[in-house]
Amino acid sequence: MRRMSLRALVCTGLVWVGVLDAAGQGRNGPLEAMSVDGKRVRIVFPVEAMHVSRDATRILKVLEDILAQEAPAYGFPDAFVWDRRVTVGLGTEAGTPSSTAKSVPRDALIIVHANSVRSLDASQLRRLLRHEAAHLLVGELLDYRATPRWLQEGFAEWFAGGLTCDGEFRLWIELRRRSAADEELPRLDDASWAVLPSRLAYDFFGSFFEFLEHRHPGLVSDGDLLERVKLDGAFVADSWEAQWHEYLRRKSHREPVCTLRSEAR
Ligand SMILES: [Zn+2]
Repeated sequence: MRRMSLRALVCTGLVWVGVLDAAGQGRNGPLEAMSVDGKRVRIVFPVEAMHVSRDATRILKVLEDILAQEAPAYGFPDAFVWDRRVTVGLGTEAGTPSSTAKSVPRDALIIVHANSVRSLDASQLRRLLRHEAAHLLVGELLDYRATPRWLQEGFAEWFAGGLTCDGEFRLWIELRRRSAADEELPRLDDASWAVLPSRLAYDFFGSFFEFLEHRHPGLVSDGDLLERVKLDGAFVADSWEAQWHEYLRRKSHREPVCTLRSEAR
């Protein structure tokens, strides 16, 4: 354990010093940590980066709220209980990945890039953390290594609130482009996802879950889909994929409509 920092104490009211490894060192040296009263979430960051403590406080509050009030009820089987403590590694510029956030379900760990997260407004931050929280929760329910990418990212996007307005528009443009070029719609397991910009791939994945919930109300939101996947390991029926393509084709004939759900919840 490391010495408590007075500044962190002042910033948060309840602070303890934590570390990512037993030796008391993070990969880049000593780490500070803070938590909120529930202690469900703790956040660690390099000790020399106290300027991120405000970001840490924002993240803590949002994540505690998500875990306390909305998971696991929404989209998870009734019997699913998740009570692990989440660690958020708040990285600063050096030594952290350039993407805004990533998660490591096995360790209940979310890594967030402080400089990227600072520019997000409250609903964007909430959406980002819901996405990452979904990965942790799904990782507890299913064997993550055997879970296809479309299911991981599609469910996370759906759990985060569904397609954003930007996402609807990106998807619409891509659907129109494919239609004009006589290009096939992508399969969920298509290896070519790697060549698409990742935001667009996520939009497609998220649209599959929107389609499922639209076509079979409650299938995703009541947890039946994840339960079915857990029980029989079957990820998707071919008929669903064909119906999803039909849903996308119909979507491509309409101007995009903003159906963002995250604002409503
Ligand atoms: Zn993700």
